[in-house]
Amino acid sequence: MTERAPREVVLHLPAVEPDPRRNHVWVAIVLASLLLVCGVVGSVAAARSVANRNAERSQDTLELSSIEVAATLRLAIQRQQDLAVSATGFFLGTPYPTNDQFLAWAETVQALERYPELLGWGEVIMVTAAQLEAYMALAAADPAGVVLGDFELTPPGERPFYCLFIVGQSRDTLTGAPPGFDYCAGTAGEPILASRDSGQSSYQSIDAGSGATLAVQVPFYLGGVVPATVEERRAAFAGWVGLGFDPEVLLDDAIQSRPGTAVALRFHDEFSNAEFISGQPPEGASSMARDLENGWTVETFAVVANTGIIDDQDARTVLLIGIAASLILAALVLALGTGRASALRLVGERTGELRHQALHDALTGLPNRTLIIDRIEQLLTRNRRNNTAGAALFIDLDDFKNVNDTLGHEAGDRLLVAVSARLTNTLRDADTIGRMGGDEFVVLIDGAPLKVAPELIAERLLDVMRQPFDLDDTSMPLSINTSIGIAIGDRDTGGDLLRDADVALYQAKAGGKNRYEIFYPEMQTEISRRIELESDLRRAIARNQFRLVYQPIYNLDDLALVGVEALLRWDHPTVGNIEPDEFIPILEQTGQIQEVGRWVLLHATAQMAAWHAKGNTLDISVNVSGRQLDHDNVVEHIREALAASGLDPSFLIIEVTETALMRNAADTAVRLKAIKDLGVRIAVDDFGTGYSSLAYLQQFPVDCLKIDRAFTNAITTSPESKALIRTLVQLGRDLGLKTLAEGVETTGEMDHLRDERVDEAQGFLLSRPLEADTLESQILAPSRRTSGATKQA
Ligand code: C2E
Ligand code: CA
Ligand code: CA
Repeated sequence: MTERAPREVVLHLPAVEPDPRRNHVWVAIVLASLLLVCGVVGSVAAARSVANRNAERSQDTLELSSIEVAATLRLAIQRQQDLAVSATGFFLGTPYPTNDQFLAWAETVQALERYPELLGWGEVIMVTAAQLEAYMALAAADPAGVVLGDFELTPPGERPFYCLFIVGQSRDTLTGAPPGFDYCAGTAGEPILASRDSGQSSYQSIDAGSGATLAVQVPFYLGGVVPATVEERRAAFAGWVGLGFDPEVLLDDAIQSRPGTAVALRFHDEFSNAEFISGQPPEGASSMARDLENGWTVETFAVVANTGIIDDQDARTVLLIGIAASLILAALVLALGTGRASALRLVGERTGELRHQALHDALTGLPNRTLIIDRIEQLLTRNRRNNTAGAALFIDLDDFKNVNDTLGHEAGDRLLVAVSARLTNTLRDADTIGRMGGDEFVVLIDGAPLKVAPELIAERLLDVMRQPFDLDDTSMPLSINTSIGIAIGDRDTGGDLLRDADVALYQAKAGGKNRYEIFYPEMQTEISRRIELESDLRRAIARNQFRLVYQPIYNLDDLALVGVEALLRWDHPTVGNIEPDEFIPILEQTGQIQEVGRWVLLHATAQMAAWHAKGNTLDISVNVSGRQLDHDNVVEHIREALAASGLDPSFLIIEVTETALMRNAADTAVRLKAIKDLGVRIAVDDFGTGYSSLAYLQQFPVDCLKIDRAFTNAITTSPESKALIRTLVQLGRDLGLKTLAEGVETTGEMDHLRDERVDEAQGFLLSRPLEADTLESQILAPSRRTSGATKQA
C-alpha cells in the first residue's frame, strides 16, 4: 500500500504541472496568430483611413477652389457694378455728353486699364420715333457706338422707340455695336426694357461670332437712386450704362494657377439663361456649385480622388507594408518562442495607438501642445546646426466665441475641423501644424526650406481664412477673420519661442485683429504699457483727464469758416499727452468708447450751443466709432446730447468711418437711419481707405464724404488719386453728397482740390485743431468771423 501512493503522485505529475517549454511554444503560437490577425485587420483599417483622408483632402481642395473662385467672381461682379455707378455719376452730371467728353472722363477713371475684361461701354438712351430725327442730326455730327462707323439704324424699320448709344468707348474698334444699333429691338430687347422697370441690371450672353460676350445693361434714374415703384421708375428713367465684358478674361483670372480645374459662370432670370465656361472639365470630374446671389451661380469642376483602398496608391502601400510587417512580426514571435520578451513587444505595439492619442488632438487629428513643443525643440536644434532661422506662427480665430454662442458648439467644432483642413491644405507638407486647444493653432516653419518669408505665409493664411466657410448646406456661409503672431529665430526652449509668438498674437489682436504681427523684444514692454493705459483709462473720465479740441473746416470757394470737428485729447497724469491714435483703439477694444463717446457728444454739443448763443452758426462734427454703432444706445446718446445742449440738430454732423459702415452693414444702416431721423447729418470719414463700393454706400443715409488724407496728399503726384477724387466729387454732386478733403497741408493741394471742385477742406495749412478758448478769441471773434482761414504756426 505504501508503494501505491508515490505511484499515483508520479502519474499525476504531468497533468498538474505541464512541461514549461511546451507551454511557451503554445503561447508563442497563439500570440503570433493573434498578431497576424490584428495586423491584417489593423492594416486594412489604416489603409481605409488613408484612402478616406485622401478623398477628404481632395474634396476639401475642390471645396476651397470653389470658394475662392466664387469669391473672385463675386468681387468682379461687384466691381463691375461700381464701374456702372461711377459712369451713372458722369452721365447724370453731363446730360448728352459728346464722345470726346465721355472719352476724357473715361480716361480719368482708367476703366480699360483697371478692368481687363471690359470690351466696351457707354451710355444708351431711349429715343422715341418723334425724337429720332433730332437724334440722327446729332449723331451725324458725332456718331456714337462702341465701334467706329456712320449712323445706320440696325435693324432698320419704324418702331415706337429705339434704344441707341449716345456715347461709347471700346477696347478694340472693330468689335461691338455700331452707331445706330437698336438695343431694344427684337427679343434681345425684352430684358433690357424690363430692367428699366425693375431697376435691376440685365445680363445677357451675346455671341457675335467671336465667342460669347457678357452684355450688361444697368438702368439709371434722375436723382441717382432707384425709385420705389414701377411708375416712378418709368418717370425718372434716364438711360442705361451699357457694358460688354469678355467672360474668358474674367474666368481665366478666377481659375489661373489651378490646373485641372474648370469653371462655369451662369446667370439666370426670367429672360436670360447665360452661361460662360472656362477650362475643360477633366474626365470624371466632380463639381461644386455656389450661389453668388442676384441670379448668378458659379460651378467649379475638379477631379476628386477615388475612395477605394485598392484604387488609392497611398492606401495600397499602407496595406501592403502593414501585412508584411505583421507577417514578419508573427514569424519573429514564433521564432523567439520565448514568451515574455516578445509578449511585451506586442503590448508595446498596441500602446503605440494610445500614444498617438496622447499626442494628437481628438477633434482635428493634428499634433497637440505636447507634441508641438517637442517639435519646436527639434526645429530649434536643427536650425542651430544649419545656422538657419525657423519660425513659429500662432494662429487664433477672431471672435470665435461668437460662433459657439450663436450657432452652438457643434457648429463651432465643425468650423474648427474645416479651419484645420484649410490650414493644412494651404501649407507645404514640410510645415508642421498643430492645435494648441480652443481656436488656437500653431504652424512651424523650418529654416532650411524657408525660401518664403514667414510674413508671406502669414498673409496667405489670413487670405485663405477670409474666404467664407460653408459649414452645411442650410445655413449662410460663415465669414471669420484670423490673427497671427509670429516669432522667428533661436530661443532657449521651445516654450520660449511659443510664448513670443503668443505675445505677437496679443499685439495683432490689440492692433485691430485680422492681421499678423512679428515679435520683437520691445513688444513685451509695449504690451505692459498698453495694459497700464487700459487701467488708467478706466478712471480718466472720473478724473477729468479728457478734453476736446476743435479743428476748423472751411468752404473751399471763399474760405469761409463753416464748422469745426471735435477731437478728443487725453492728458495723462504722468505720461502727459497721449495721441488718440493710441488710446482710442484701446477704448474701442475694451468697450469704454461707449461711455467716452457719450461724454464727447455731451461736451461737443454743449460747446457749440454756447457758441451759437454768441451768434455764430457753425456746424459741429463729432466722431463716432464703429464699436459705438454696434449698440442701439448710440441713438439715445445723440438724442440726449441734443436735448441737454439745446443745439439745433441740423448743426450736428456725425462722422462714421468707411470701415465702420462695412462692419455690420444691416444693423448699422438701421441705426444711421434712426440717427438721421433726429435731424442730424452723417459724414463718411476716411473715405477711400476701405474697399466699400459706391453702390454699397447708397444703402446708408449719408450727407458728406470726407476724402481721406492719403488721397489729398497724393493729389499733386498721383493720377489715380486725382481720378478717384474727381469721381467722388462727380458722384457726390449727383447724389447730393458734399465732399470734404481732409489733411490739406500745402497750397499746391489746395489748388488741385479747387480745380476738382471739392466743396470743403480741413488741414494743418488752414488750421490745426485748437483749444476752445483759442478758437473763440482768434477765429470766432466778431472782427474775424468772415475773414476766412487763419494760418497757424
Ligand atoms: P480723424 O477723424 O480722421 O481726425 C482727423 C485727424 O487728422 C486728427 O488727428 C487731426 O489732428 C489730423 N489732421 C488734421 N489735419 C491734418 C493735416 O493737415 N495733416 C495731418 N498729418 N494730420 C491732420 P487726431 O486728433 O490725432 O485724431 C486721430 C483720430 O482719432 C481721428 O481721426 C479719429 O479717428 C480719432 N478720434 C479723435 N477724437 C475722437 C473722438 O472723440 N471719438 C472717436 N471715436 N474717435 C476720435
Ligand atoms: Ca473724423
Ligand atoms: Ca478722417
